[in-house]
Amino acid sequence: MLPPIADNFVAGETAPEAIAHARDLDGRGVGTILNLLGEHYERPGPAAEDRDAYVRLIDDIADAGIDACVSVKPSQIGLDIGESTFRSNLEVIAERADERDAFVWIDMEDHETTDATLDAFEELARAHEWSVGVCLQANLKRTRKDLDRLIDVPGKFRLVKGAYDEPDDLSYTRKPRVNEEYRELLRYAFEHRDRGVAVGSHDPVMIEHAADLAAEHGTDFEIQMLMGVRESAQYDLAADYDVYQYVPYGNRWLSYFYRRVAERRANALFALRAAIGR
Ligand code: FAD
Repeated sequence: MLPPIADNFVAGETAPEAIAHARDLDGRGVGTILNLLGEHYERPGPAAEDRDAYVRLIDDIADAGIDACVSVKPSQIGLDIGESTFRSNLEVIAERADERDAFVWIDMEDHETTDATLDAFEELARAHEWSVGVCLQANLKRTRKDLDRLIDVPGKFRLVKGAYDEPDDLSYTRKPRVNEEYRELLRYAFEHRDRGVAVGSHDPVMIEHAADLAAEHGTDFEIQMLMGVRESAQYDLAADYDVYQYVPYGNRWLSYFYRRVAERRANALFALRAAIGR
């Protein structure tokens, strides 16, 4: 069982706990994106284990009859070992998703993985139309071109600001510049697509911007936020929009939890208050 505090950000250590959380969200009108925690495997064994765990998870989701999907990290299913390992594991997951009418997101890691991730996504999306999605990061200077390349691909994309520290020559490092880029990418996406846009942000300004653009262009879109972050806003927004909560689970929760607490003072204060029992 997870200790208190961590269980605000992570649904549990096992798939049944994650499914129970997803069922609860489903009852509140919020969909779930389940992520089994794990990354940077250097041997095929653990990558294959997590691939198989995702296949079982897809079955669990389908059997539960809830609005949920999965999100996979490339380095979790073999990208650090080699592109072919990553692709074949991803294909196994996508095949099962196709069979069970489920959806697979591909998370985006640091810039060294972008080409391999987008190539795999594009091939998969053309083979399994509208059942896979990929994350794009506004802090990377290349993303405008990437978005343009993917604009006609029959898959979804989740636009985020970017979670990795990237080199100055490849990325925007100042927050206002990343925000400006995010707004422009959203504008481009809504102007050129009528479906498959996901806003992966807690930022009320960006969510409002997306809602305005969607109304202007008649575009279908969804809002995605993390478990434990602005949850009451998630429930409120779900009255008007498609909202999905990204829900991590698994026994490798410690480093994920530290990242959440470190990235935001409010989370750290919240954790401290819970730790001292007040
Ligand atoms: P920020 O720019 O951090 O903050 C903007 C505003 O949002 C704040 O002023 C505040 O009003 C509100 N806000 C933000 N955080 C909080 C909080 N904890 N509590 C209360 N209000 C808050 N990154 C990747 O690089 N690859 C991925 O695959 C990836 N997948 C993601 C999937 C989802 C569903 C989400 C939500 C994020 C993902 N990210 C990913 C992380 C993303 O890149 C950002 O690092 C992260 O979302 C922070 O940016 P932001 O837009 O949410 O808000």
